[in-house]
Amino acid sequence: MTDFAATRALFHLPEGMIYLDGNSLGPLPLAAETRVAEVMRGEWGGELIKAWNSAGWITLPARIGDRIGRLIGAPAGSVATGDTLSIKVFQALSAALALRPDRTVVLSDTGNFPSDLYIAQGLLKALGRGLELRLVPPEKVANAIDESVAVTLITEVDYRTGRLHDMAALTAKAHAAGALTVWDLAHSAGAIPVDLTAADADFAVGCTYKYLNGGPGAPAFIYVAPRFADSAQPILSGWMGHEAPFAFDLDYRPHASVERMRVGTPPVLALSVLDTALDAWDAVDMTDVRAQSIRLSERFIAEVEARCPELELASPRDPLARGSQVSFRHPQGYAIMQALIANNVIGDFRAPDLIRFGFTPLYLSEDEVVEAARIIERVMTERLWDNPAYATRSAVT
Ligand SMILES: *Cc1c(COP(=O)(O)O)cnc(C)c1O
Repeated sequence: MTDFAATRALFHLPEGMIYLDGNSLGPLPLAAETRVAEVMRGEWGGELIKAWNSAGWITLPARIGDRIGRLIGAPAGSVATGDTLSIKVFQALSAALALRPDRTVVLSDTGNFPSDLYIAQGLLKALGRGLELRLVPPEKVANAIDESVAVTLITEVDYRTGRLHDMAALTAKAHAAGALTVWDLAHSAGAIPVDLTAADADFAVGCTYKYLNGGPGAPAFIYVAPRFADSAQPILSGWMGHEAPFAFDLDYRPHASVERMRVGTPPVLALSVLDTALDAWDAVDMTDVRAQSIRLSERFIAEVEARCPELELASPRDPLARGSQVSFRHPQGYAIMQALIANNVIGDFRAPDLIRFGFTPLYLSEDEVVEAARIIERVMTERLWDNPAYATRSAVT
């Protein structure tokens, strides 16, 4: 059994704050501060350029890729890290499209995160061969997979509602139609058990600053199924993805493995934080995380619904049909969330009317969940949200 009291002790959690936003930005792992200080002083400061070899900076992206791989059912050597998720979406989608040159449709859904859709729009325009981004409602994806589809570009857990797609079933359906799959695991990695191998996924991407606690702007990851490791074409063909970067050849030759999805110099400080953050997962069983996440979210929904009938559940009621987050709908959602934040319950708001809460068993207890529901009740019954200060929207909501 995973010891969640032990994992909680690994994080800095501000006194009195109930943090229900680990689905947007995980908290600071205490050991990251020491690690970064060591990397700064000892490695960068003391070793300078030598540290690429002596401190293993150059292999850090691959070592971290393997650690993430363990959490998403990816074999060693199939996950590369670096850049941002948006860039990894671009790489995965472009590589998948190049493997299906006779097809014209990228299929996604209206619940997908805008950046994924924007990246697809930009890429399709640049490729200029009459490609189409086809968007259907999330529940219609399975039926929309036909033989025109080159690639499905689907985020497994809907960022707004938490609705969960059936990765294995959709992948099987896509393959039967001759299409390839790109799965975005932004709200899956560290949130729910993921088994890319069992699902037979082709490509997957994700970020590490949400449930994996890698810190703001932490490097992203990309998975390429081993069967495509030496045929997936990296459109962003940077020197770090070259077969031999330090041969300084004039021509690009991709690395034989997923390492070809690296682009430029890795962000060593950020990767070091992420490496330390991943220590928290060493003794964690994702099955326990899922069971506890369901316990927390079910308790939360029951408490909030009993106390605040004016809040409407926007997430699937069946816990097996959602990820590790829960949203409620209310026309005053933005102001309600500002009032909650002022009362030390941190979630976030997603336009037009959703208040969203993430459940992260590594550092969140059931008592906190119940206390959060009590505070939500107070914000609603005392109309604490009805305050002009909460009417103006900040840049980040
Ligand atoms: C969080 C998130 C992103 C953000 O992409 P970045 O490049 O890291 O800013 C993209 N897609 C999905 C599905 C997300 O949830």
